[in-house]
Amino acid sequence: MQFGIVSLFPEMFTALTHGGVTARAIECGLVQLHFWNPRDFSHDKHRRVDDRPYGGGPGMVMQVQPVRAAIQAARAFYGADARVIYLSPQGRRLNQAGITLLARDSRLILLAGRYEGIDERVIQHDVDEEWSIGDYVLSGGELAAMVLIDAVTRQLPGALGDAQSAQEDSFCQGLLDYPHYSRPACIDNQAVPDVLLNGHHAEIARWRLKQALGRTWLRRADLLAKHVLTPTQQTLLAE
Ligand code: SAM
Repeated sequence: MQFGIVSLFPEMFTALTHGGVTARAIECGLVQLHFWNPRDFSHDKHRRVDDRPYGGGPGMVMQVQPVRAAIQAARAFYGADARVIYLSPQGRRLNQAGITLLARDSRLILLAGRYEGIDERVIQHDVDEEWSIGDYVLSGGELAAMVLIDAVTRQLPGALGDAQSAQEDSFCQGLLDYPHYSRPACIDNQAVPDVLLNGHHAEIARWRLKQALGRTWLRRADLLAKHVLTPTQQTLLAE
């Protein structure tokens, strides 16, 4: 999977190379990151990329020329059909289904805004989709782009040590994840549930499913309302 990143702060993305799933995926070439900094494309002698908004008001706006030129360079590299995604609080809200959808692409160009945002003409003419990571406003699109890259990477075959762990994560099967415990079996008078210690796989699976259902009911009843039990889940609960 290739991510082309159009950003004024490409160095922020080194965070993805510090340990864990994304670092491994980048190291082994499963994920490739390429950068285009609008500043490198600016025609301004001081490499400016922003100007005051027409109509007045606070803040600055990223200008068409350098942002468009950076996007065009990314498109020239990946091919004209590479989708351009603008990370924006006004976009479609990102969730696990959206991540699964995005993970089907083999390359995506991610556009990170700064200041008050990007000149609307870029969004209208150079962007294919807008995605938001939540109903709050960040100072820039870089963190949002990294959230997207991390979540998409987890979906790529071979990215996780154990592929099943992605399947059992919250939202993957429409439920929240069950609780996890590790050694020791008892600490500070707090014991691991007995069922997890008896080695009976069907009982463990049934307990985990019940926990996942219970948690989803308590914490995210909206998800439970839409959930349809799989045949395996039905069998487990019937036993
Ligand atoms: N004035 C804009 C608005 O209210 O819609 C917000 C601009 S914000 C300060 C600067 C940049 O951060 C945006 O261009 C966008 O790229 C990014 N950003 C902010 N919040 C975001 C969110 N919730 N999801 C994705 N990107 C976000």
